[in-house]
Amino acid sequence: MGPPSGENNVVVSSNIKLERLLSMKGGKGETSYANNSQAQAKHARSMLHLLKETLDGVHLNSPEIPFVVADLGCSSGSNTIFIVNVIIQHIIKRYEASGHSDLPEFSAFFADLPSNDFNTLFQLLPPLANQDVGSMEECLASTGHRSFFAAGVPGSFYRRLFPAKSIDVFYSAFSLHWLSQVPEIVLEKSSTTYNKGKIFIHGANKSTANAYRRQFQTDLAAFLKMRSKEMKKGGSMFIALLGRTSEDPTDQGGAGLLFGTHFQDAWNDLVQEGLITSEKRDDFNIPVYAPSLQDFKEVVEANGSFSIKKLEVFQGGSPLVVNRPDDAAEVGRALANSCRSVSGVLVDAHIGDKLGDELFLRVANRATNKAEEILENLQFFHIVASLSLK
Ligand code: SAH
Repeated sequence: MGPPSGENNVVVSSNIKLERLLSMKGGKGETSYANNSQAQAKHARSMLHLLKETLDGVHLNSPEIPFVVADLGCSSGSNTIFIVNVIIQHIIKRYEASGHSDLPEFSAFFADLPSNDFNTLFQLLPPLANQDVGSMEECLASTGHRSFFAAGVPGSFYRRLFPAKSIDVFYSAFSLHWLSQVPEIVLEKSSTTYNKGKIFIHGANKSTANAYRRQFQTDLAAFLKMRSKEMKKGGSMFIALLGRTSEDPTDQGGAGLLFGTHFQDAWNDLVQEGLITSEKRDDFNIPVYAPSLQDFKEVVEANGSFSIKKLEVFQGGSPLVVNRPDDAAEVGRALANSCRSVSGVLVDAHIGDKLGDELFLRVANRATNKAEEILENLQFFHIVASLSLK
């Protein structure tokens, strides 16, 4: 097999292209997001006390007004449904505790980019509780049913998604580290910022990593501006995203280990084996940036619309869930699957799915050889923020 003819030549540069293309792997197969997001579920569960603190700060309107929740970057799979349920149950408890005899109706928006597998997500939603029989309380208590109206919202969270002043609670987990685009300057071959030899900024040039940092801060600023318009007065927002503990953006922490080591080496393998050109590799960049607390805070403060109720770095643990940690091959496969579930769509668009298979086979083999080290060192840190509209 020689280098491919270039039919899959999608260079992920402009944000419009990335918006149309990016999604986690859909469906329920071995490398799907639905099947590789138990670690995210675990990390989200370990943060529930922080989420509930955020929810305790939300203003409760009169129950005649629907209560509206939006999950931004919901992906497909059950994580988002679990969280939306937690949010609504907590708000119900607060209404009850505050002596309201009626509860509001609840509505939940599941928002993600248009290529997200909304079909799989919608099929996982339990049926709506039948409100014609029995009291509202009985409906809400009935198990196996959902107590909220559901809708999918396609679009980038770096733009407007909702009408002004319409949302009570925004939730976004493990999504905001996805940039709106690879900074153009990183793809310019004549620039010192060109990410030569690399597919991520971990261990890259300072100038390349700084271009990513600027992109992250521009994107987050846009995100906050849009949300400040869409949120109801008294509303709150809970954000968790991949972060790093180092000040140096070329040290991307857990994200660096996931995308910058075995994954990087596997790309180099394809080049060395003559399956792709080095240019093809260099044109591929993972549009992810794990910020430091400072990177994040600067943007929230500059935006000025939100008060920071909580902002901290949270140790989430390993992104891998393995049944037999002694089984190196399982660890290798888990790393490759986890990497593919989040980056596979971009990889396949860049080199085609046949070469994608070859790439992730090499990721799995390399990771199998380093299984012990991976289990020991691969840790995700998250930035967790609780913000309320000033
Ligand atoms: N919140 C889920 C899924 C996280 S995966 C969970 O906790 O498991 C990250 C999601 O963010 C992906 O589905 C991806 O498509 C979405 N995403 C990335 N960039 C986005 C953007 N600009 N607008 C909306 N969604 C985006």
